[in-house]
Amino acid sequence: MHKAIYMDYCATTPCDPGVVEKMLPFFTGVFGNAASGDHIFGWEAKEAVDEAREKVARLIHGKSSEITFTSGATEAINLALKGLMESGTTRGKHIITNRAEHKAVLDTCAYLEDKGYEVTWLDVDEQGSISLEALENAVRPDTAVIAIQYANNETGVIHPVREIGSIARKKNVYFLCDATQAVGKIPVDVVADKIDMLAFSGHKIYGPKGIGVLYVNNQSKINLSIQQHGGNHERGRRSGTLNVPAIVGIGEAASICQQELSTSTEGIRLAGLRNRLEAALLSAVAGIRINGGKVTRLPQVTSVLFPGVNGEQLLLAVSARLALSRGSACSSAQRIPSHVIMAMGLGETAAHDSIRFSLGRFTKEEEVDAAVGILCNSNLIT
Ligand code: PLP
Repeated sequence: MHKAIYMDYCATTPCDPGVVEKMLPFFTGVFGNAASGDHIFGWEAKEAVDEAREKVARLIHGKSSEITFTSGATEAINLALKGLMESGTTRGKHIITNRAEHKAVLDTCAYLEDKGYEVTWLDVDEQGSISLEALENAVRPDTAVIAIQYANNETGVIHPVREIGSIARKKNVYFLCDATQAVGKIPVDVVADKIDMLAFSGHKIYGPKGIGVLYVNNQSKINLSIQQHGGNHERGRRSGTLNVPAIVGIGEAASICQQELSTSTEGIRLAGLRNRLEAALLSAVAGIRINGGKVTRLPQVTSVLFPGVNGEQLLLAVSARLALSRGSACSSAQRIPSHVIMAMGLGETAAHDSIRFSLGRFTKEEEVDAAVGILCNSNLIT
């Protein structure tokens, strides 16, 4: 085990030990195929999947019949957007999204745009917030869906999801919400928020990688064209043998998150750590800014702009001892400026100089203090 401090929980979380324990029997003893309806091995696997489906549904206030398991949020978003638009059952070919979405949404919309669908790319303001007025004005008679995330993966900025849901309902447009960073961290209620489709992922909520969820509201009567043909699994929505251990894992992860959310103490603890980190950085380093710091954010994330400091060099300088990132894992790998910071109009330099700190269940106060020390001793910031 390495000794580095992990502050990249938005990229992925470790599995909770309780999740691993729950998953283990499903690799060996209870190994059946959940679709094998003819014997007890299959029945046991199906029972475990059903239980996990219930737990996942409960976390977002949905019904188990509204849950489709996928390989992750990216696949869920692809299935939702392409599936909906290609179904030929929407009232038009127009999609509304915003420029600061995760690439899973942006690239899927760009793909659809290439195929002849029309996309309105809404701007965000310098705090990363969208304008509800601009959103409402963007709805046209041929608009099929609004795709806006619950919370941003770089800044943690939370969007007014309930208001967006109300606009979508009023205008008779579907609302797809990428809630990958919000589910399990803050209360998410698909019914109260009037969400038609919602995507999230196991590996962001202390569950395993390679498993995700697409929630589709039964009452919205949504038709999704099949993106993956085969054995008619998941009520025909997503064929392929179910990954039973991972499904059991995401179910347990959801249940642990739900217990945590019921008391709010973990959110309060994380916000306290995040505030401590920000306060220490603000007093130690001249001229830094918190991106989106003036609006409501997730408790565990902060995006810090270190003006004049090349973010890539800073990350490299501390990388043996401190794991941070410049944005989403995909854009970090591509070494391109953060499209989120660019969308906020803060410019390319700020997009290179901003660093994301994301804390989580296993982050301790001493680690926050040590992280500030490591950064300040890096000789790159003064
Ligand atoms: N949406 C958001 C907001 C994310 O942060 C991520 C992952 O970073 C994804 C979608 C993609 O999730 P997955 O890794 O499960 O495909």
